[in-house]
Amino acid sequence: MNNNNYNRPTNRPVQNGARPAQNGTRPTQNGRPVQNGARPIQNGRPTQSPKPPKKKMRFHPNKDGIMAIIVLLLIVAIAITVVVCVIKAITNAINSGKTDDTTVSTVDTSTTEITTEATTILTDLATTAPVVGAWNEGYVLQNYSNTKVNEGDLILVNYNYEYTFPSTMEKKIDSLYHKEGHNSAYVLGTDTRLNTSIVHNLAQMLTAMKTANIVTLSNGYNLQVASGYRTYSYQNELYNKAVANGTEGYSAIAGHSEHHTGLAFDIKVFYKAADGKTATYDLRAAEQDWILANCANYGFILRYPAEKVDITKILEESWHFRYVGVPHAKYITENAICLEEYIDLLREKHTYGKSEPLSVMANAKEYLVYFVPASVESDVTAVTVPASGSYTVSGNNVDGFIVTVEK
Ligand SMILES: [Zn+2]
Repeated sequence: MNNNNYNRPTNRPVQNGARPAQNGTRPTQNGRPVQNGARPIQNGRPTQSPKPPKKKMRFHPNKDGIMAIIVLLLIVAIAITVVVCVIKAITNAINSGKTDDTTVSTVDTSTTEITTEATTILTDLATTAPVVGAWNEGYVLQNYSNTKVNEGDLILVNYNYEYTFPSTMEKKIDSLYHKEGHNSAYVLGTDTRLNTSIVHNLAQMLTAMKTANIVTLSNGYNLQVASGYRTYSYQNELYNKAVANGTEGYSAIAGHSEHHTGLAFDIKVFYKAADGKTATYDLRAAEQDWILANCANYGFILRYPAEKVDITKILEESWHFRYVGVPHAKYITENAICLEEYIDLLREKHTYGKSEPLSVMANAKEYLVYFVPASVESDVTAVTVPASGSYTVSGNNVDGFIVTVEK
């Protein structure tokens, strides 16, 4: 009713047909001042307008001069507009980076250094993108203190990379027994503690293992978590004992044990001998097979396989498992690599902005995994993360961050 064209169906077919040509212009490309600036020259060409414009257009030399000045002024005005637009776009980009900072609790805000760092990287990404296709779209920068490199489910702790105890360590660990409130048969002592984030996953795995009815679990055997979180001094004690016994090949020097993180545990089958006093620990083939086939579903990996001893520098430990998260555990297990190799794979082949992310399927979902190196110029790193959706960021305890995006 409001549209005049509908009231006059026969009069204006030509007008409607002529309009779509306008779609060929590019209103969003702020980054191209030269293109935009060049356009007005076309309008200035008198030969291009077929209709006789305005008043009488007799060109006298002095009037031509005035016209030239007007056109020149027009070009200058448009060029200034374009420059202002570009500056506005850059300012907006910087501001969006700042907004991201404030939404994350782990972020250091408010120093000029951080903004400079984020801006540098943002500019860098803007000029290099899209290097690896559509996965750059919809991503934003968030600042992480470089101390976060030492935290997270994917930290590598071994002979080379020491664990950094946070001041809040005691808050991060929970008694497996007390947290889950049952399954006392599953812990060697009620003080067996683990990182709070994995307690539930481990309890779920133990319950599933028990209900799987593995043969040896009947008949007096008890599946038990024999060791979880260890303090520095306790590990020191264990290591010294191991040296005295000649078994240090199974033990890490204090500070370099995964048990410090609360993300690793030793699982064994406890058997009380006939006298009721002596006990032996073992992990027999049936339990071993079940754990190896199922642990990745709960985010755990066998950390020290026999064939990786030259890399891990720890002798085969059939009982020692480590939490890394479900998609990572799946990839590591299916590809028969160890954590050291996985960390290197991400660093060398799946760095953001340089190569494709690693695609991992787990529980019928696709995950994208990529590495962001920690800044060497600043104490803060701008980590590229999705603007929305589910993702996690973990340090690798080596030199950067691992981002895991759930698609
Ligand atoms: Zn262990």
